[in-house]
Amino acid sequence: MPSIRPLPETLISQIAAGEVVERPASVLKELLENSLDAGATDVGVALNEGGIKQIRVVDNGSGIGQEDLVLAFARHATSKIASLADLEQVRSLGFRGEALASIASIARVSLLSRAEGAARAYSIGAEGGKTGTVQPAAHPTGTAVEVSDLYYNTPARRKFLRSDATEFAHCEDVFTRAALSRPDVAFTLRHNGKVVARHAPSDPARRVEAALGEEFARSMRMIQADGGTLRISGFAGSPAYTRASRDAQIVFVNGRFVRDKVLAHALREAYRDVLHGERHPAYVLFIEIDPRGIDVNVHPAKIEIRFRESRAVHQFVLHAVAKGLSGTAAETPAALASPVALASHATQPRFVQTALGLAQPSASYTAMFAPARATRPDDAPVSGAQGLPPLGYALAQLHGIYVLAQNEQGLVLVDMHAAHERILYEKLKTAIDSRAMNTQKLLIPATFIADRLDMATAEEHGSTLKLLGFDVAPISHAALAVRAMPAMLAAADAAELARAVLKDIREYGASRVLTERQNELLATLSCHGAVRAHRALTVPEMNALLREMEETERSGQCNHGRPTWYQMSLPDLDKLFLRGR
Ligand code: ADP
Ligand code: MG
Repeated sequence: MPSIRPLPETLISQIAAGEVVERPASVLKELLENSLDAGATDVGVALNEGGIKQIRVVDNGSGIGQEDLVLAFARHATSKIASLADLEQVRSLGFRGEALASIASIARVSLLSRAEGAARAYSIGAEGGKTGTVQPAAHPTGTAVEVSDLYYNTPARRKFLRSDATEFAHCEDVFTRAALSRPDVAFTLRHNGKVVARHAPSDPARRVEAALGEEFARSMRMIQADGGTLRISGFAGSPAYTRASRDAQIVFVNGRFVRDKVLAHALREAYRDVLHGERHPAYVLFIEIDPRGIDVNVHPAKIEIRFRESRAVHQFVLHAVAKGLSGTAAETPAALASPVALASHATQPRFVQTALGLAQPSASYTAMFAPARATRPDDAPVSGAQGLPPLGYALAQLHGIYVLAQNEQGLVLVDMHAAHERILYEKLKTAIDSRAMNTQKLLIPATFIADRLDMATAEEHGSTLKLLGFDVAPISHAALAVRAMPAMLAAADAAELARAVLKDIREYGASRVLTERQNELLATLSCHGAVRAHRALTVPEMNALLREMEETERSGQCNHGRPTWYQMSLPDLDKLFLRGR
């Protein structure tokens, strides 16, 4: 066995970097934190190729003095805390003194800074964990950090990076959160030379509108509660405003964006009675708490915290938000209508949904339910049990929910939605497994507004979508169009289906969607595609449904394990009526 040896310094840094620098977005997060900690009032971000090629953050903060520049890249060197007591009441976003060191071990970094009151600026570079020398340079007060060629020296990690579009989408999320956390600070975001977002200094309501869109701003309720050492303020989307994903659920604790189970649970509870289905609420909340009441040093990425009195925090947040939601819509500050706020919408154009209905004429139900073979002509007499198919022939539809049919044994009761769902499920499964999905081109593509991650997911996973029978393409930078969908689902809302598929892909990844998650996804699709209750079916449609049920494996159970049909034999009925035979 080899003896124990200390690892080389560079390798130690690279291993540690793995915890802090997962992708370009994590670099951006650290750089933005540093700019805000330096008291910047104006922060510019420029990304190239999703941030993989380059991330540049320029701020007008307090800058770094000449003698400190060398230490900026030193591991565990920080200007923000000096003792455990400091850590316990830390107010800055950074405090571990390892972000720049980590970043410098896996990318080429240059720092250019002029400290407040200093006569000139200085620069320093670092590459492969080696720090260069401090050089005089020209720059106004503040700091510019440039991070290039992420993971150029660790190809194994580089492989985990996704497409530029996906990495950019994550960077944009980080940028938006920073902008939301500090409405008083100006932020600009450029990608490949183009300005993607620009936020002038403003107030929280206006910043929220600029970052999350007008629709959210119109629906949001103001949240405000003061518990002395614990305060909450911000905006919660009304229950009527929901999203397909959780990415507009944003909570800052003392200015730090956090993901916290206690808070997430309190918020779920607050919305529980007012929100239904698979949609997610949206909110931007600012919690201020005495720093001694939390532990921020839980994870290297500083995205987790621990509350000392989590129960009290839970109740406080739950009640504040529930109360806010029960009230009327937030008073819209007059400022919301100002040209500044409207101009900031450049990144979120409104897109009018085009006539979805036209793509799905109701006649398609008939097509779906009426294969030429195996249906009994309407006028054929039902009498004569000989040669009746197993599930018999339809007699009528009951309350738009059940199909009544007569077979040899007696009466068959069919839950038409559940039965159809089961048929679609099996058909979809067979089609996917045999790579033979029949698709239908939509005469008029169904369009919908999509966020950047959906846009990126659609572009990146075209082949998975195709396998599932969908053709989804961008038609602007914030809208997608469904151009084709599985033919057997043609009666469903195409946009709704496409959203469900994209949501699964982005949450679980394309490969899992086609393997371990496949059954769940197919269940969702078939539920959307199945005939809804209260749809009147004609007798031929009902018979076609019965024939399909007979042909479908396991048609006795719907995907949720509920039965799809029930047999009442003549003897059963006789017993019901105490009728001796
Ligand atoms: P931390 O933020 O935890 O202190 P970092 O590695 O992120 O550690 O940064 C190291 C030090 O470099 C900071 O403590 C700060 O003094 C200095 N620094 C980094 N970025 C900036 C900036 N944009 N403006 C001013 N100082 C900065
Ligand atoms: Mg930092």
